[in-house]
Amino acid sequence: MKTFCGRANPTTGAMEWLEEDENYDYHQEIARSRYADMLHDKDRNVKYYQGIRAAVSRVKERGEKAIVLDIGTGTGLLSMMAASAGADFCYAIEVFKPMANAAVKIVEKNGFRDKIKVINKHSTEVTVGPDGDMQCRANILVTELFDTELIGEGALPTYEHAHKYLVQEGCEAVPHRATVYVQLVESKRMWSWNKLFPVHVEAEDGEKIIVSPSEMENCPGVPSVCDIQLNQMPSRDFTILSDVVTMFSVDFSKPVRSASTYYRVQLEPVKSGKAQIVLSWWDIDMDPSGMINCTMAPYWVKSTSAFQWRDHWMQCVYFLPNEEPVLQGEKVYLTACRDEYSVWYTLQKARGEEENKAAISVESPVCRCQAHLLWNRPRFGQLNDQNRTSQYIKSLMKVLKTDSVCLCISDGSLLPVLAHYLGAKQVQCFFLSLVYYFFFFKFFKANHLEDKIKIIEARPELLTSSHLEDKKISVLVGEPFFTTSLLPWHNLYFWYARTAVTSHLASNVTVLPQSASLHMMIVEFQDLWRIRSPCGTCEGFDVQTMDDMIKNSLNFRESKEAEPHPLWEYPCKSLSDPQEVLTFDFRKTVPQHSLSTEGSVNLLRKGKSHGAVLWMEYHLAADISVSTGLLQISNEKGNCEWNPHCKQAVYFFSSVIESETLSDIPSAVTYAINFNTKTGDIAMDFKL
Ligand code: SAH
Repeated sequence: MKTFCGRANPTTGAMEWLEEDENYDYHQEIARSRYADMLHDKDRNVKYYQGIRAAVSRVKERGEKAIVLDIGTGTGLLSMMAASAGADFCYAIEVFKPMANAAVKIVEKNGFRDKIKVINKHSTEVTVGPDGDMQCRANILVTELFDTELIGEGALPTYEHAHKYLVQEGCEAVPHRATVYVQLVESKRMWSWNKLFPVHVEAEDGEKIIVSPSEMENCPGVPSVCDIQLNQMPSRDFTILSDVVTMFSVDFSKPVRSASTYYRVQLEPVKSGKAQIVLSWWDIDMDPSGMINCTMAPYWVKSTSAFQWRDHWMQCVYFLPNEEPVLQGEKVYLTACRDEYSVWYTLQKARGEEENKAAISVESPVCRCQAHLLWNRPRFGQLNDQNRTSQYIKSLMKVLKTDSVCLCISDGSLLPVLAHYLGAKQVQCFFLSLVYYFFFFKFFKANHLEDKIKIIEARPELLTSSHLEDKKISVLVGEPFFTTSLLPWHNLYFWYARTAVTSHLASNVTVLPQSASLHMMIVEFQDLWRIRSPCGTCEGFDVQTMDDMIKNSLNFRESKEAEPHPLWEYPCKSLSDPQEVLTFDFRKTVPQHSLSTEGSVNLLRKGKSHGAVLWMEYHLAADISVSTGLLQISNEKGNCEWNPHCKQAVYFFSSVIESETLSDIPSAVTYAINFNTKTGDIAMDFKL
């Protein structure tokens, strides 16, 4: 069956109707899923196996039959572990149909057909009884329903229900318990993902400071978790203000309550500073003794020998609603509030207990200032990057004249304000933005610019000369940045918008950026390759069916697609020089024909060619460019430094070439890249 899905094309902006196979979402979900990453997580697998063996033995020692309930079985892995450990029967529940089907095949292939029953249901739909899905309640409960925030995938309500209806009282649970840890830190870098810092602009008539509206000051932001590879955050980028403390733990062998609640700990700062961020992670004890422990603790907390790279569980960064000065040795209270699915934090000075209680709001944070709805965390970081801003300032100064009429096309951009200040207030500024008119109205007002910058709420193709007060645009600017962009080249929407407003441009218009270029480099990833690499067997179980399924989903659309990843979190080394592969001239309109290129790139270092990384560079004005990708190759080993505010495109090669020496490898990778100007898609093909 086919269905039609409407969407705005992120590159061309055109509204289009796509005919989608009904399996499209399934394939996307599988191809981009974390199943492979979980199966590669040796530390996790080994510890689950140990915990499951121990639980089965305890039940057997009591002389009982071991009946296992495995909620969210995925490939069936944990049930197969249980069956191998001697469990009498396993009920393997999986809500996601393609996975349940795969589990059936995998279970059969590994010879567990009569020990494991795969049930394709959500656990809350499972029935127990002679005619039910399960003959009787289970006495072992095995799950792996955790995300980086522990509870974000609904572990609590699932456990609550399972204890009420699916397992016996006093059941053994693997994992037995989860514990959430926190540490209070000050970090300008991370805080810059949550608040807009004052932006300094050296204008001809003195320094100007762009400020944010006062509502932003105390705004609690959005409840969505900020999960990152904290191990990539160098210690120079944050200051530790407290020891690591236990915030709360959940015992999975007892009835679990999912209702909203709060937990509170007293902290004694080890250093004076500004409390801004709560870093958090968890560990799970697979058995009651706590001897089998799997931890997400970051590098400064655990020994390097315990280190296991994984992407399916990372660490959390929580932003306090506002920064709070703390003094070394002067106690404060940290409160974690949670609902069924998420956690948030507040900090209270140790005053009267009553006063503190009153300060606890169990209500989930809601952005009041609108900025957190408009700007996501990397975008905040980008806008706060004063280096980047100064590139735009320098370029604007080059192109603006006192009589310029300026139109800015970019989402949630500060460029109109910069242009206004740098044009010595003579510049007429128009801001074409479809998103968050009200926020920008407030923002401009906070800077006394409400009648200096005109916000136009229209799509570029609907722009009329009356919007522009019958003026022609002499300077067209963009960062470019659009909230709909996922892959680097989606921001080429600027080019399409520029084309749509052509009739409003003066004949001698300056376009900033004047052009963009697509760059490409072959890399070896330290770890990221795992997420797309087949597993074969996992702890002795044949899971190739899963590999095939992922491969099939990746090939679902004939041409493989590049995927966005923030590479500052995923170390890699360059195996080739970066190469410019396509250029886009914004001074001209989008051509009718495709832009394509072919060539080859030399491999300069030995290593595994896992894939190509692609990114955009914008040429703002003569000699001034900004890169959304590679910033530099930092040493002779080829380690790369990436723009920390942008995602880069990664194209994983279907097979990896490994070179021990430079002489025994094909010394080059050939590529063909095609930008279809009609669809805005970039298709690519690489041959090793
Ligand atoms: N147990 C597997 C897979 C874990 S991923 C392993 O450890 O390798 C979690 C799986 O649980 C996903 O496939 C998801 O679809 C499923 N899931 C989550 N909550 C569920 C629920 N309440 N009932 C049934 N399946 C669930």
